[in-house]
Amino acid sequence: MAKTIDRTELFGAREGSHGIIRCDACPVLCRIRPGRAGACTRYANEDGRLIRTDPLVLSERIAHGGGDMVPFLEAELDWNGNPVAGPDMFVTGIGAGTTYPDYKPAPFVVSSQFEGVDTVTIVSEAIFSYCGVKVKIDTDRHIGDETAAIHAKGLHVGHITTAEYGSQMLSLGGVRHLTGGAKKEGVVTCETLMALCNKEAVELQIEDGSKLIIEAGRPPIIDGIEERRMRVGCGSAAIGIFAQQWFGHADEVIVLDDHITGVLSEHQAGKVLGMKPTGIRIRGRKSTAGRYFQVAAPGHGWGGTDITDPLSIIETFDARIAWPGMRLLMTSTTGEDSLYCELDETLTPVEMAMPDPLAQVVERIGENCEPSLATVMFMAGAGGSLRAGVTDNPVKLTRSVRERMTRVTLGGAPAYVWPGGGITVMVDVTRMPDRAFGYVPTPAIVAPIEFTLPRNDFADLGGHIGAITPLSDIVAEFKDSARHETQRNPWPLRKQVTE
Ligand code: SF4
Repeated sequence: MAKTIDRTELFGAREGSHGIIRCDACPVLCRIRPGRAGACTRYANEDGRLIRTDPLVLSERIAHGGGDMVPFLEAELDWNGNPVAGPDMFVTGIGAGTTYPDYKPAPFVVSSQFEGVDTVTIVSEAIFSYCGVKVKIDTDRHIGDETAAIHAKGLHVGHITTAEYGSQMLSLGGVRHLTGGAKKEGVVTCETLMALCNKEAVELQIEDGSKLIIEAGRPPIIDGIEERRMRVGCGSAAIGIFAQQWFGHADEVIVLDDHITGVLSEHQAGKVLGMKPTGIRIRGRKSTAGRYFQVAAPGHGWGGTDITDPLSIIETFDARIAWPGMRLLMTSTTGEDSLYCELDETLTPVEMAMPDPLAQVVERIGENCEPSLATVMFMAGAGGSLRAGVTDNPVKLTRSVRERMTRVTLGGAPAYVWPGGGITVMVDVTRMPDRAFGYVPTPAIVAPIEFTLPRNDFADLGGHIGAITPLSDIVAEFKDSARHETQRNPWPLRKQVTE
């Protein structure tokens, strides 16, 4: 068991004569016998004390005035010997504990000075019933239809949502899967979210689609094959980027793409370069000059289509315009698939060795593809009762967050706060320390959250002033038991340029 923090005062109540403690850190209200842990394993009864089984996580700034956070131990290399280097420490919510019911002040209300301003950070682990993850998978392969159900361990945990530029998108979790289905669906949804947020690999099956293995910050594995390249752009964009490099080496270039297939001679880029028409006619629906939709069905073939024979998208060559010897290059948007042909006397494409100048441009397409990754963004509603751990008047916190007076971080990582009502936050889990997420069996996800604001503003919004503890006291108390994590984020107390 990790180094522990006695939380009896905050969350526990002794019951009976057998040393049983009732944990009241969440609505489950476990009765925990000595030597045992509660249902979520986050709390345990150690010799009659209710302890949080994971240590508090502290991070320290690289240098005075610098912007980054570093692991505590790394920073100690330049340590000046002061055991309570308070101003450069940040108390994250990881290991802080939760409060329930929420009218209690958050577990830590920390005061510190930053650049001459008295600052307060309210630190907690929040229980989120309204939460989920958005997963971005850098691939143009067809993994399933939009809105198709996604299953984990055979249970419905989410769906495919709108594809983005070069990426497929999944929406997983949410209150409906956590609470609106059978109990098992809620449990598996919670497990899936927690594993993804803790950067573990998770297997997902899309209805009538692919089997995925997703791990935050790692290449996705689609139907057993690790994806390597994110496409350089759509077919039309690829034509725009490389037209000049192809010019003079090919009479026609087709960039095959599931969404927008580009045809160089017809495209504005080819026109501006003065390329002459080639009489090529391809399948699909013409959108604008040199840009075609629906040239094939989606799939695992060239450019996210089901095409394995690229010539099959060519309907014909107009004999009045095309000519024998015409040079044709076909490529996918990643450069992983390519073909060079010349037309024979009957205007039939004949595959040939690709000339070096064209091969170099195909190689450059590959060079311009970024590595394919799976990105996991945790998204949750922090506008509910957890605000009562900050202030008696919760709407003032909401307004303060919206007006950017109060900064929101999760485990020290910057959170994007959605405009509009509530405090709907989104954070990249790879910017958070490892094992930052937990769960309670209600079921709901437990995630760290920190609100930072000037002390005067904290008082103005009805904050729990009486619960404030100086940072130096907390650092002194926990520096030996704290967990020290590697992360690089803007210093949470510093107002960001984008704010
Ligand atoms: S599930 Fe965890 S937090 Fe909730 S009461 Fe039990 S031990 Fe405490």
